[in-house]
Amino acid sequence: MQILHPFVGSIQQYFKETSEPDRYRPDHCPQCEANRPLMAHGFYSRTLVDVEFDSSIRVRRYLCHCCKRTVSLLPSFALPYLRFGITVIALFLIARLLSGHTLSAAAAAATLSHMPYQRGQFWVRRFRSQAERLCAALAALLAPPSAPNFVSGALLMLQSIGWIAAHRFLFADLRVHLLGWPAFLAPNGRLAALRPAAPRG
Ligand SMILES: [Zn+2]
Repeated sequence: MQILHPFVGSIQQYFKETSEPDRYRPDHCPQCEANRPLMAHGFYSRTLVDVEFDSSIRVRRYLCHCCKRTVSLLPSFALPYLRFGITVIALFLIARLLSGHTLSAAAAAATLSHMPYQRGQFWVRRFRSQAERLCAALAALLAPPSAPNFVSGALLMLQSIGWIAAHRFLFADLRVHLLGWPAFLAPNGRLAALRPAAPRG
């Protein structure tokens, strides 16, 4: 299960912060609710593309002794299951959907001039289908602005709150993904619990 790293700051600061295993060790398990601190369990690495960053980052993992499942602490500038960071996706969506730029101009605004246009279309499609849900969820933080549709409303709310701050609230408190969970994890981003196979015969 992925949860949010409590750390707030830049990618460079994140690298320093993750070197100490005990500093952000969860004091209980979010999966079985065991009230024992989790045990540091190494890292996995994932790629991340963000403004002036295109490399891999290490994500700290912890293990629960009771349920034997792992919890990874994902930094808040990265979205679960997406290689691109929140900042570049935000720049792209604002340029495309709020300012009305072309796909290629929006990619340039997001510092991603050479990305295939299909990637931008994919973000737009996912954001459009998630916009109404975002408006409803973010209304807990901010009165909805007057906007012609949910897409503009959600973008304006995200701009006011700050995309990463909004993501922290959506993901940590509500398990809502900014662009919607991939179909295999819908609706709340948790892998379905594996049930023991029924006895045969
Ligand atoms: Zn557990």
